[in-house]
Amino acid sequence: MTQFISVKQLDQAPGARGHQKIQPRSFTGLYRRLRLCGGAVLFALYFGVVWLNWNDRQAVLWDLAEKEFHIFSATFWPEDLILLSAILLICAFGLFFITIWAGRVWCGYACLQSVWTWVFLWAERLAEGDRSRRIKLDRAGLSVNKAARRACKHGLWLIISLITAITFVGYFTPIRALVGDLVSLKASGCAAFWVFFFTAATYLNAGWLREKVCFHMCPYGRFQSSMVDADSLVVSYDTARGEPRGSRRKGEQRAPDDGLGDCIDCQLCVQVCPTGIDIRDGLQMECIGCAACIDACDSIMDKMGYDRGLVRYASERELAGGRTHVLRPRLIGYFLLLVSTIALFSWGVASRPLVTLDVERDRGMYRFTADGQIENSYLLKVRNKDSEARFFILDAVGLEHGEYQGPGSLALEPGEKAEIPVSVTYPPESLSSANVSIQFEVSSMDSKGAPVTSRSTFLGPR
Ligand code: SF4
Ligand code: SF4
Repeated sequence: MTQFISVKQLDQAPGARGHQKIQPRSFTGLYRRLRLCGGAVLFALYFGVVWLNWNDRQAVLWDLAEKEFHIFSATFWPEDLILLSAILLICAFGLFFITIWAGRVWCGYACLQSVWTWVFLWAERLAEGDRSRRIKLDRAGLSVNKAARRACKHGLWLIISLITAITFVGYFTPIRALVGDLVSLKASGCAAFWVFFFTAATYLNAGWLREKVCFHMCPYGRFQSSMVDADSLVVSYDTARGEPRGSRRKGEQRAPDDGLGDCIDCQLCVQVCPTGIDIRDGLQMECIGCAACIDACDSIMDKMGYDRGLVRYASERELAGGRTHVLRPRLIGYFLLLVSTIALFSWGVASRPLVTLDVERDRGMYRFTADGQIENSYLLKVRNKDSEARFFILDAVGLEHGEYQGPGSLALEPGEKAEIPVSVTYPPESLSSANVSIQFEVSSMDSKGAPVTSRSTFLGPR
């Protein structure tokens, strides 16, 4: 199994760096551009989707009060929990598949913690300047300049956190009303609390805790060591090519016998790392796979006139001189699991009944009607789960001598639930036992979807 080194081990090593505040240096390159694209898509989805409307309601809304989850034309209820669990399984298998294939690309490019941390770093740079200025500012005593820059940074962080929190709460309570209520100071105590809570959580996580969330709070970093194998593509330093490292000037020609590798020990890969690790120490649990060190090292290789790729996506097998096996049993296994779960989920969504029926029997025993029939009462709870208004036929099926007494049809708006009191009567002489099983049925008038049935019992005299 691939061996990981942890920050703790590194900090305990002789000459370790200890715990310092990490001030990553900003750097551009191919992978940063890819990260920006991933972040931009995520931001557009997160901040944009909440404002979309669909059929006169918010397109994506987890309505906790009504216990309904709307996602465009589909609505899910608590009884659809199994389908929502399937979505979680799809995400888990997707994550396992991608981790085996290419390590922590999810963390580096699309994880909310990473993306928000990059945004907070951008705000920090805007207020306090580049890495060297920020380090100087950290060391400087209190001054008007320092206080103003710090205030500006924290102000920006709080604004981003507040917008993030309002958007998040807006997925659980209609966003337009929420924003109106917050602006007019009429928001409920509950909504105000959650906006405050998520503002504080975002500010703390992305502003203060940053990489510590990845180190100590995220379980994914812990179990990735059991997922990554010798063929996984992970950000790696090519030790055979880079060592022995040694400084030299830009463009300086190397003597054939200087004995040095390609690493000029410029430390740029360490300075750009958001988790403050040195990729040259080997594969580490704290590496979030952001590839900032690849961009940094490639630029140095360009300046020195060496080939790119001293730090690159490579497998352990490739670095040891072998050939990476792309198709391997674990990767294929997770791919098949992923595809099967997606197929099962799609089938489940397509075939789920568009109407639900629950039957509650009246608590009383039985009654005799004026004409001597035995009568039992029931409450039929019918819900239209379709996205359009529907007409339904109500009936009790399989009653040999009994008769259904109640409305024969019902019109329901999308998502509407109705409670219909009905009864069933039997002539006393036709009851073969004191306890007869009966079945209610609701079917669509336009024959869309299969009829839905629900069983109950009919009680008579012993
Ligand atoms: S950026 Fe490249 S050359 Fe510079 S220290 Fe890192 S690995 Fe060595
Ligand atoms: S070592 Fe490289 S890939 Fe890993 S977190 Fe640091 S900069 Fe990102």
